[in-house]
Amino acid sequence: MSSVRYIDPRVLAQSAPVQTVVGEAPLVEFERLADLLWPETDSVAALAAPLAVRWQAQAALRPVVGGVPQTWLRLTVQAAPTLRCERCLGPMTLDLSFERDYRFVAEEATAEIEDEVSEEDVLVWQRDFDLQALVEDELLMALPVVPKHDTCPVAVPFSVVDDDFIQSEAEKPNPFAALALLKRDAKKGNE
Ligand SMILES: [Zn+2]
Repeated sequence: MSSVRYIDPRVLAQSAPVQTVVGEAPLVEFERLADLLWPETDSVAALAAPLAVRWQAQAALRPVVGGVPQTWLRLTVQAAPTLRCERCLGPMTLDLSFERDYRFVAEEATAEIEDEVSEEDVLVWQRDFDLQALVEDELLMALPVVPKHDTCPVAVPFSVVDDDFIQSEAEKPNPFAALALLKRDAKKGNE
């Protein structure tokens, strides 16, 4: 099965029967993800996480009353990127699988305006539309801002950290208590 990266969305939408294109690329090819991924690639291999990102795309024409039919695209993405957990600093592999729908318009200006007011994402039609770049955009948005295991595989010495934190909190004067004292003193002054 050959991997499809570039499509003409209109041509794909006109295919009958409906054609599904599939593609895949190794995670390391997604350069904008590089800073977010676990850097030790050997460890990733050791984890046996799939290093390929896979996608599927289908397009369709939707009739518009009194207008030209719209070109729609449905994209499905599967990936298992390994990130660094912010809590234990160990590797964590995410199992990502998602589906997105897009509508194509002819011009960038139209896309910007319509993307604001439309529920679906609006893209600009191109004869050689880059599916892999779109997949990369979606992966960037799908990754957590602060990656954390639900349960870290190693014990993190939280109790020590917490005790110190509670201790230092206890030593700080309570701002409300201080305010109450001020009010009391002010009343005394008025009497
Ligand atoms: Zn962790």
